[in-house]
Amino acid sequence: MPGPTQRDVRNAFDGGLPPQRAGERVIVVGAGLAGLATAYELRRQGVDVIVLEASDRPGGRTWTFRYPFADDLHAEAGAMTVTDHCHYTMRYLREMGVDTEPSDLVDTDFAYYRNGIRIRPDRIGDHAETLGLHPDERDRTVADLIAGYVTKPNEELGPELAEPFWTPAPRLLALDRISVRRILEQRGASAAAIDLMEPMFLEMRGGELESASAMAWARYESGPRSFSTADGGWHKIAGGTDRLARALADRIKDRIHYRSPVVRIAQTADEAQVTYLDRNRLRTLGVDRVVVTAPFSSLRRVNLSQAGLPAAKHAAIRRLRYASVLRVFLQMRTKFWPEQRLMLSTDTPIRTVRDATPRLRGPRKIVECWLTGWPAQAAAAMSPEERIDFALGELEPILPGARANFELGTSIAWDNEPYIGGAYLLPETGHGELMAHTAAPVGRLHFAGEHTAFEPNGGSMNYALESAVRVLLELSDR
Ligand SMILES: Cc1cc2nc3c(=O)[nH]c(=O)nc-3n(C[C@H](O)[C@H](O)[C@H](O)COP(=O)(O)OP(=O)(O)OC[C@H]3O[C@@H](n4cnc5c(N)ncnc54)[C@H](O)[C@@H]3O)c2cc1C
Repeated sequence: MPGPTQRDVRNAFDGGLPPQRAGERVIVVGAGLAGLATAYELRRQGVDVIVLEASDRPGGRTWTFRYPFADDLHAEAGAMTVTDHCHYTMRYLREMGVDTEPSDLVDTDFAYYRNGIRIRPDRIGDHAETLGLHPDERDRTVADLIAGYVTKPNEELGPELAEPFWTPAPRLLALDRISVRRILEQRGASAAAIDLMEPMFLEMRGGELESASAMAWARYESGPRSFSTADGGWHKIAGGTDRLARALADRIKDRIHYRSPVVRIAQTADEAQVTYLDRNRLRTLGVDRVVVTAPFSSLRRVNLSQAGLPAAKHAAIRRLRYASVLRVFLQMRTKFWPEQRLMLSTDTPIRTVRDATPRLRGPRKIVECWLTGWPAQAAAAMSPEERIDFALGELEPILPGARANFELGTSIAWDNEPYIGGAYLLPETGHGELMAHTAAPVGRLHFAGEHTAFEPNGGSMNYALESAVRVLLELSDR
């Protein structure tokens, strides 16, 4: 029987979730947003649910750093933006009584730092020669480049790209075989124009355009999450993104086992079995159903040899690609740069530099260096102290005075997080083939999490929550 569609899931969420079998025993693997929402809803319906979480906190990739900053400053290690279109996130925020405030990522003083100079996106023509723009690109702004190379040709691909629910038409699936760089080149964009547009393709920065699926990208850029078309409906969670996960976890706190990494998942005709480390001792539980929300980058290290998974599922677990993201946060004594809302795309290894506290009057501020792709992988191999020093060294020519104003710093390398192993799904060419197998249930095992999204782009709290609702439908439906 085919599983629920994206529209079915939305209708069920809006119209009332279907009843579950009270008393059924379910294990949820992972206490990120997908796992927490699944367990919260199951618990409300009388299901005997346990969450096994490898780390010592809820939230997974929603993680707010408060330590080691002074003055109650905080920084987001993971997710930081929620838009009005994030239907599931907005509803859980309301239900949990968690407020939002305007996002820091819109209305910034965005500029490029290329070859040592600051270039505004509406003045690229002044630097056409140095940048290497084609003659016909020289009197354009970056907004014009995006309109000409992205928005208009994407619209011509057909209305399905912008549909609220994803239904890949064959001509869209054909795009899954070519990369974003290739399609932009086919549309006539110069290497310089691609370089200038790339920071706008928010989740694909980092030299990944060579392998990123043009289908996934075109869908993303046609929808409301696109950075290049960001409107006023962008928010952040007041007081830190982790407040949503903590509120959900609080509702089911007696059901969550922290520091309990799952090491083996198996199933027989009669039950599903989950083996996990419980205070350094292996323990196995037999249950009716298991909901696996661990990212595939972590699931690769779980023994699944007796899980009865088809080859296509194993292939999806092995092949799904995750973006490398590393964020360095530097607490500065004072705001020593002129911009009100600093945000720079640089051609240096620290990539994006931004004021992570633009709404705070200070005096203290946090400057963030957002590294992606190979620079993120290289910096992940450094010690935490080396990373700070490396970031400061790169930052000084960009923001003179960085070293003198620096007080303390911290960082996160998502590739190194032992039970996550990457930032978010990075749909590569051929991703469309993996998608159906990623989400499909197998016997007593169900799969949720951002990587199982209906959308060809996960990487969102909203899709993590949507996937939880899909699994609730699967569990009730059988
Ligand atoms: C740098 C960054 C920026 C982002 N920006 C945004 C943004 O602005 N807006 C947005 O909406 N989204 C953003 N995201 C994406 C968003 O954070 C994720 O898509 C979402 O939080 C994923 O939730 P999840 O429940 O699917 O997975 P996770 O949050 O990863 O949860 C999975 C959980 O499973 C646990 N686990 C893994 N393996 C095991 C095991 N073997 N045993 C037990 N437990 C295990 C992990 O410890 C983790 O807690 C960002 C993510 C990152 C990293």
